[in-house]
Amino acid sequence: MTTAPETSTQDTLRASMVSVVLPMHNERDGLDRLFARLVPVLQGLGVPFEIVTVDDGSRDDTFERLKVARATVPNLKIVTFSRNFGKEIAVTAGLARTSGDVVVVMDSDLQHPPEAIPQLLAEWQCGHYDAVYARRVDLDRGSPLRNAFSTAFYKAFDYMSEIRVDRETGDFGAFDRKVVDAFLAMPERNRFNRGLFAWAGFRTTTIPVTMEERQTGTSQWGFFKLLRLAIAAITSFGTLPLKIWAVIGTFVSLSALAYGLFVILKTLIFGADTPGFPSLMVAILFFSGIQLVGLGIIGEYLGHVFSEVKRRPLYFVREAIGFDRPVSILPPNHGAAAPEANRDGR
Ligand code: UDP
Ligand code: MG
Repeated sequence: MTTAPETSTQDTLRASMVSVVLPMHNERDGLDRLFARLVPVLQGLGVPFEIVTVDDGSRDDTFERLKVARATVPNLKIVTFSRNFGKEIAVTAGLARTSGDVVVVMDSDLQHPPEAIPQLLAEWQCGHYDAVYARRVDLDRGSPLRNAFSTAFYKAFDYMSEIRVDRETGDFGAFDRKVVDAFLAMPERNRFNRGLFAWAGFRTTTIPVTMEERQTGTSQWGFFKLLRLAIAAITSFGTLPLKIWAVIGTFVSLSALAYGLFVILKTLIFGADTPGFPSLMVAILFFSGIQLVGLGIIGEYLGHVFSEVKRRPLYFVREAIGFDRPVSILPPNHGAAAPEANRDGR
């Protein structure tokens, strides 16, 4: 599936424009270092480029610093949100405002090395692939707890969802315009971007990239934020947790029936013994426990239905700088029918 990029950057890139999307939440300290590494790489491509940054409700002065950076960083565009909407939505907003025929999505904390961009683009340029992901070669960098959690999540996701998402690939990748448009045609509110890209399909490959340590600041993803994303991901892409209750329920009822028959027979043959308080208690606890778990899972899906039927906008833009056309505060196409490309297959 994977080939090392031999076609290198010496081949001139055949793209009329390359876009880079950078979601940012409290990244003030890393900006200068980021642009110092990113801009020369983009300039080396030899084609026009744009850098679309999305300030996702930063509480620090990321937005002000981005505005200052426009003096030195060519084609820097800025969207700033009315509040923090989360990385998945920030990336969506950035993608919606790109105009390149290939779009690179990456973190802005320099964990995704900009120097890998030419390789991603070279692989895209071959024409065999519509999406090229960076595959991390150094998997076990994080804390042991986080690694264990992430392994468990990918196992569960693999088992329960109808699409495949590799543990080794993250949000760093290059996407053809076709893929970006397909991604944007999915209007759902609970967004797990990698799942949406995978669901869109298209020909996908990976290239090995050594990811780096976060340069400044701290990770924005606490345990509970990650857990929420994991639950949203699993329940957005599979209905096994919802359906499995029919199987468990049938199994439990059949066992209860068998146990009932056993008790009747035993009473008929050996007569009634002391009333079985412990077994009664165990049965009650067992069944109420199962029911509560089942209800919780139904609640999770109901939550999705609830947030989808409200049809709220995905985000609001507070200010947008550097775009040719005026940018509305609502997501593009908000409330409009899905674009033509998406009509089949849904
Ligand atoms: N980010 C964002 N909104 C958020 C949290 C994070 O736009 O609510 C951005 C953040 O600025 C960074 C990227 O998403 O560019 C990845 O976040 P982070 O480095 O905190 O995650 P980690 O690398 O630990 O997974
Ligand atoms: Mg990071």
